[in-house]
Order: sequence, then structure tokens, then C-alpha cells
Amino acid sequence: MFDSPLQDTYEQVMRRNPGEPEFHQAVQEVFESLAVIQGRHPEYAEHSILLRLCEPERQLIFRVPWVDDAGKVQVNRGFRVEYNSALGPYKGGLRFHPSVNLGIVKFLGFEQIFKNSLTGLPIGGGKGGADFDPRGRSDGEVMRFCQSFMTELHRHLGEYTDVPAGDIGVGAREIGYLFGQYKRLTNRYEAGVLTGKGLDWGGALVRKEATGYGAAIFADEMLRTRGASLDGRRVAISGSGNVAIYAAEKVRQLGGTPVTASDSSGYVVDEDGLDLDLLRQIKEVERGRIGEYAERRGGRARFVGTGSVWEVPVDVALPCATQNELDGADAKTLVEHGVLAVAEGANMPSTPEAVDLFAEAGVAFGPGKAANAGGVAASALEMQQNASRDAWTFEHSEERLTQIMTGIHATCVETAAEVGRPGDYVVGANVAGFRKVADAMLAFGVI
Ligand code: NDP
Repeated sequence: MFDSPLQDTYEQVMRRNPGEPEFHQAVQEVFESLAVIQGRHPEYAEHSILLRLCEPERQLIFRVPWVDDAGKVQVNRGFRVEYNSALGPYKGGLRFHPSVNLGIVKFLGFEQIFKNSLTGLPIGGGKGGADFDPRGRSDGEVMRFCQSFMTELHRHLGEYTDVPAGDIGVGAREIGYLFGQYKRLTNRYEAGVLTGKGLDWGGALVRKEATGYGAAIFADEMLRTRGASLDGRRVAISGSGNVAIYAAEKVRQLGGTPVTASDSSGYVVDEDGLDLDLLRQIKEVERGRIGEYAERRGGRARFVGTGSVWEVPVDVALPCATQNELDGADAKTLVEHGVLAVAEGANMPSTPEAVDLFAEAGVAFGPGKAANAGGVAASALEMQQNASRDAWTFEHSEERLTQIMTGIHATCVETAAEVGRPGDYVVGANVAGFRKVADAMLAFGVI
């Protein structure tokens, strides 16, 4: 598939990590991009940089026992993959979802290395989580789970070592319980050890909005390189969690109309544009299902329980739910409907087949590691505010986020052009993200 020595490295990585399809998918995409610069950097191969980069620095798997409301002992499995600390402390979210396993955490951690590098901020890559499902659990059960999870994880964390945040199933409530337990166990108010905190106890303005806002800003930037913008565009968004809600809000601010939202039970179409207050009330406050949105919208929205949100004709698509949620058939439908741009709010939501179809059709495609980097960038800004015991205004924080997103977009465009693949954001993001990490690893010697 690749020329040697890339092929030898690829085979070793596949052999050493069997049964982890999402991890293989993420690695393959990065290798395909790096094949473009193979030959320009013999020093990377000489020092086995890629082989070292594919092997996490540390992988933790631990038992998480806790007691449910009925008094029964439950057992979950916790993970933290401390992937690469060449540029700074390990940084990346925690995911609580029944599908979580080591391969998923490794794919997310691997992506995170390049994403964090692209932000230009001093953060390494990591990811973690558990196969715990917070849905349908009481606050007390979630608290006891989080306390047990942190009782083990805390010994591996630290503001200069490893700094988790939220992801699927981990929002402000979970971060509160996790931080409370960390504080109790360590007897330290180490605010910079977790990000996504509440605003009254070390959190930062715009962190909550940052991933979704950033994805919409990235889509707008991609359209601008083609003489267009989000203004006046119909936008399909999948998911209805943290990323989806704030992507919709920024789309609206930029003049677009977000017309869909979804969860694992189906999707809603609201031709007038989503009522974001209602969506927030149902999803953030009541933790309800997406069908309730259509029920409470007084006939203006419809709920669809089968198929996919990508069936709805739109100009722009923002997948903001989960990995591999947009496949080749979905991409074909979007292209037939004339989609102009796709920016990934989620991590790896498009299958390789879908990405190829977008490229063939000339659709502007922003991969997650660039388009959703706003969340981790705002987390790094939260760490910066914690370190300086400061709190920035919303306006200043949003301005920083916008600068970072437009900077990442420009880096992708420039790097893609430099390596002879103009307009290819996947290659631009992977090559630019990789080079910084690789050069730092070279500087440190064999460690
Ligand atoms: P949330 O838990 O807040 O929301 C996830 C949403 O996606 C929910 O609506 C959920 O529906 C839906 N969803 C999850 N799995 C599926 C599925 N298999 N099929 C259909 N819908 C599904 O998570 P976030 O919004 O934080 O994360 C969404 C994505 O963005 C993830 O890929 C995450 O890794 C990525 N991301 C998040 C960042 C952040 O700052 N939060 C930063 C960068 C990337 P349901 O409730 O029914 O499961």
C-alpha cells in the first residue's frame, strides 16, 4: 500500500494492535497523508519517529466499581491513553459511553496528538473514558461512578502531566464530580488539572461553546476560500449534544440556517431553523430525547425515526455526533443534493469512502482534527487562565478562539499547497500537525 519504510512501520502498527478497527482507520489516514512527504524527511525514518508516535507512551486500564441506587455493585472498565507528550502535558477528553473500548480510546488519542499540535498551543495528546452509560442514571449514580473513576485515575493526572476534559457523555455535571473527587484526594485546588469546569470554580467562558463554534467558523472559512460563506446557507447538523448545539448557534450567528439535529433515536427537521432555546432545554436541562423537540415545536418540525440526517437537502453538513456516522451512501446523497462543504464537529464521523467521495466531487472537506480543534484550544486557554489566576471576558475568549480557528484553517491551506495537494485539508492537517510533534521528538532524543 505504501512505499518502504512507511509500509514496514504500518505493518508493525497493524500487527501490534489487532482488533481495533477505528484505530487502524485513523492510522491509515495519517499514513496516507504522510506518504506525500515521504522522501523529504529521511531524518524521521532514521529515528523511527512514526513508529514511536504510533505507540502510546502509556496506556491505563482499570476497574471502576460503584454502587447503584438499588444497592447493587456495578463494575465498569476505565481507560486513559497518555499518547504523546512531546508538545505539552497529555490533553484530551473523557468519553462515557457503552461502546468505549481500548481501540476507540486509542483512535481518539492518536487524532488528538495532531489536533493539539495544529492549535499551536503547548499541549500533548491523550484520551480516556469508560464503558459506563450515564443515560438513565440518577445524579447520585453518576456521582458515585465519577468518584470511583477518579479514585484510580487521580494518581496519573496533574496540571503538568495529564489534563482531561469532557467528550461524549461527560459534560459539566461529570466534570464537577471528577474535579471534586480529585480535589479531595490530593488536598490541592489544582484548577488546571481538568478543563470544562463550571464558571464559578475555575472554568472559562467560551469553553462550552468552543468546539461547535469552531466547527462552524472552520466551515465558513472553507467557503470563503471559494468566494462563498455560511450566510444564507441551509445547514444539516447531526447530534444534539454539546458540539451540535453550539455549532448550530454559530451557524445562525454567521447567517446560516441550521435545519436538523439528531440523537441515537432519530432526527428532526425544522425548516424554519432550529429553536435553540427549546433544543437546549430538552437536551441540556431535561436530558430528553430528540423526538420531544418535534412534539413541542407545535407542528413546525418533524421527527424521523429511521434513516439518516444526511437525507435532508442542504448546502453544508456538520456531523457532530460520533465516529463513522456518515458513510459512502450518505456522502453520495449529500453530493447529489449539491453540498458545498462538510466540516467535522465530531471525531472521524465520515468513513474513508465518504471522504473519498467528497474529494472526487470537489466538496470542501474539513477533517475533525482541524475543524473541531476549537474545543481543545479553548481548554488550553482555560489552563492558561487557571495558571495566571485570571478570567477573561467572553468577547476576548471568543476572539482568541476565532483567531486560532482561522489560523488552523490557514495552516491547512498553506501546508496542503506546499506539499502539492492544494485544497486537501486532510493532507494539510496531518502533515502540519505531524511535523511539529516529529521535530520535538527528534530534539528530545530517543525517549
Ligand atoms: P454529547 O454527549 O454532548 O453529545 C453526543 C451526541 O451525539 C448526542 O446527541 C448523542 O445522542 C449523539 N450520538 C452519540 N452516539 C451516537 C450514535 N451512535 N448515533 C447517533 N447519535 C449518536 O457529546 P459531544 O457533543 O461532546 O461530542 C460529540 C462528538 O464531538 C464526539 O465525536 C466527540 O468526540 C467530538 N468532540 C467533542 C469535543 C467537546 O469539546 N465536547 C471536542 C472535540 C470533538 P444520544 O444521546 O442518543 O447518544
